[in-house]
Amino acid sequence: MLAIHRNKTLSVDDTFLALDIGGTNVTCGLVSRLGLVLATDIFKTGLRSGPEELIALIITRMKALWEQSDEDHRPKALAVGAPGWLKPKEGVVVMAPNIEGWVDIPITRIMSEALELPARLENDSNLYALGEWFGSGQGCDNEITVTLGTGVGAGLILNGRLWSGSFASAAELGHIPLGPANKRVCGCGRTGCLETVASARGMTKLAREWLEAKKSTKYRGAPDDLDTDVLRELAEKGDKMSLHVFREAGLALGQVLAGVFNLLSLERAVLGGGAAGAFKFLREPVMEVLKAHLVTARIEEIQLVKGTLGTNAPLVGAAALLTAEGF
Ligand SMILES: [Zn+2]
Repeated sequence: MLAIHRNKTLSVDDTFLALDIGGTNVTCGLVSRLGLVLATDIFKTGLRSGPEELIALIITRMKALWEQSDEDHRPKALAVGAPGWLKPKEGVVVMAPNIEGWVDIPITRIMSEALELPARLENDSNLYALGEWFGSGQGCDNEITVTLGTGVGAGLILNGRLWSGSFASAAELGHIPLGPANKRVCGCGRTGCLETVASARGMTKLAREWLEAKKSTKYRGAPDDLDTDVLRELAEKGDKMSLHVFREAGLALGQVLAGVFNLLSLERAVLGGGAAGAFKFLREPVMEVLKAHLVTARIEEIQLVKGTLGTNAPLVGAAALLTAEGF
């Protein structure tokens, strides 16, 4: 769905193209250097015949966005956010566990040639975290942004800078193990990863387990029609299944975040992504675990907040990244 945000002038300053490839949706955007999102185009990642089909579709939609740019302010560069295992400097998606067939894709070369623009690759959760940090204007120097989507991603800001680590795989929160009691198989092939419980996909799986066990619930639809929006609506009505799912997800997330906070002395965690819509139900169990496990004298200053930018976060992050890269 293409949306042009005409309330914001298209010629405010330099512009960039941004692309966020997710397990559920692909978000394309035209964004100004200052982080104004000028146009967006969001469509389903879908199950396609292979990466070529999705890439061809992305190129078509990105070209349409380019056409929307002011001819005096054509995009200067493109930032691509992708999930999974990446080699950002080489511009290669090594493996994206939640997108069928995405193995060894030289995405920046492909996009750069198709759009005739320089391109950069960054972990999708890092772009999201940069966006929330830069765009909301309320970031603090040491924070983590967690995205609860198809998987669980995260981006770390340490001492006021994005922290990618030596191998660009920092903050792979979703694949931190919950312990031997969790036997659920993750999209990455391992067992017991956080995202088997705390991602949107993990939460719906927990709900389906509840349905299979024929426990009490207000839900009357088919198991396949469940998603976190349905669960959130049911939780508002006090549904036992939905409250159970959010509590389990929140406790698991809290357990992993407690380790991260104790390791890094963070001040804040921001929850974003589709399943963060259930923030009011996730907040309590997460804080319960943090309060029980954080080793800090200033526990009352620890913040757990809901992200403010939604699907615009990675687009704003793209502008921040490309500016930092000198474009
Ligand atoms: Zn995993």
